[in-house]
Amino acid sequence: MTTPLLETDNVAYTYPDGTAALAGVSIRIAAGSKTALVGPNGAGKSTLLLMLNGMLRPASGEVRFSGRPIAYDRRSLRELRRQVGFVFQNPDVQIIAPTVEADVAFGPVNLGLSSDAVRRAVKGALGYVGLDGYERRPPHHLSGGEKKRVAIAGILAMDPAVLVFDEPTNTLDPASSEEVMELLDELASSGRTVLISTHDVELAYRWADSVVLMERGSILARGSPEEVFSDHDLLAAARLKPPALLDLYNELGLLGIVAPGTPPKCVLEFTDRIERAMHGRAPARCEPGAISVCDADRIDAAHIRALVEQGTVAHVGAMGTRAKEFAGREQIFLDYTYGVIDKCILKALIGENSLIITTGGMVEHARRRIGEYSTGSGRAIRVTTVQEPANDLAARE
Ligand code: ADP
Repeated sequence: MTTPLLETDNVAYTYPDGTAALAGVSIRIAAGSKTALVGPNGAGKSTLLLMLNGMLRPASGEVRFSGRPIAYDRRSLRELRRQVGFVFQNPDVQIIAPTVEADVAFGPVNLGLSSDAVRRAVKGALGYVGLDGYERRPPHHLSGGEKKRVAIAGILAMDPAVLVFDEPTNTLDPASSEEVMELLDELASSGRTVLISTHDVELAYRWADSVVLMERGSILARGSPEEVFSDHDLLAAARLKPPALLDLYNELGLLGIVAPGTPPKCVLEFTDRIERAMHGRAPARCEPGAISVCDADRIDAAHIRALVEQGTVAHVGAMGTRAKEFAGREQIFLDYTYGVIDKCILKALIGENSLIITTGGMVEHARRRIGEYSTGSGRAIRVTTVQEPANDLAARE
């Protein structure tokens, strides 16, 4: 077995007031994984996360990074915190400077980077979280979602290998929550290891590839979200409810309506299973619609508007904060702002064309995902990447 990037070995912790928070907890976090620590309030999730970059020191047991026990001298902790970034639940705790730029620069400056490197790191991080142009703004006047993104940019500016998020969507409205979770997906798809704590079972089910279920300072279960969340007794012991989609699918399985197998993670997978169960195969009711994908950094908004006005695309979705900002700035109406790829596939299955606006590596990610769906379902959905020149639908098949 390969060495996990981060692990805890039987760590225990009691707060100075005598509250026992962790009673011998061992977790292993693989490089590049998306892990959710799930449990009700008070389960010990935050306490465990705070140990991962040395903010808390276990009373007993050990925390290891890259196979080596972490050391608690100043220098080692500084190096560890560069590698393992921590985003607090409440961004007000994390944001300390009077401007967004100064706040994001704080980490790189402390690392002793040259002023040029600091500037590059700040620009890169703000661009990544979709806050270009916010440099001079006072963080405390921003919305909750924007503050969260400033806090994330501050961590990203140090280019950590691991990002730890304590309750990333708590206190955010649904749209801001989706944006933050999309950002976490982008981070994971760029190869970073992402770890979150949450009591939101729906969110963990959709997002994580590995789940650790916690209650009263101990681990109740670990495994894939499908496995862990299918065990009602375990969930009841943790005072949680199963994710609605999984619960429904499992009940349909018990009724013999769907065959056993890996449960669906999203509505698209769910409808697919039902259709297969009903017809023995994915039905070909009509010729599938096409999905166009474009890069918001490389496309002229007028071109996008033309596609919509000419009726070439019936639905438009944007993935990622920069793509959404592009659409907002250019007044392009968005039908979908989350779960965009799946929504567009669902429309393609009923013969309608869509456009996905996204940025950078997410263009390839979207193409790949649609390609995988086509191969798996046997329904070939045409994907094109919309490119300049602006007055012609030049596309790469
Ligand atoms: P979770 O993140 O799962 O909500 P926590 O790690 O915050 O759980 O808390 C675990 C236990 O430790 C709870 O009983 C909580 O009340 C207690 N606790 C958390 N922080 C402190 C603190 N600073 N002082 C005393 N007790 C604390």
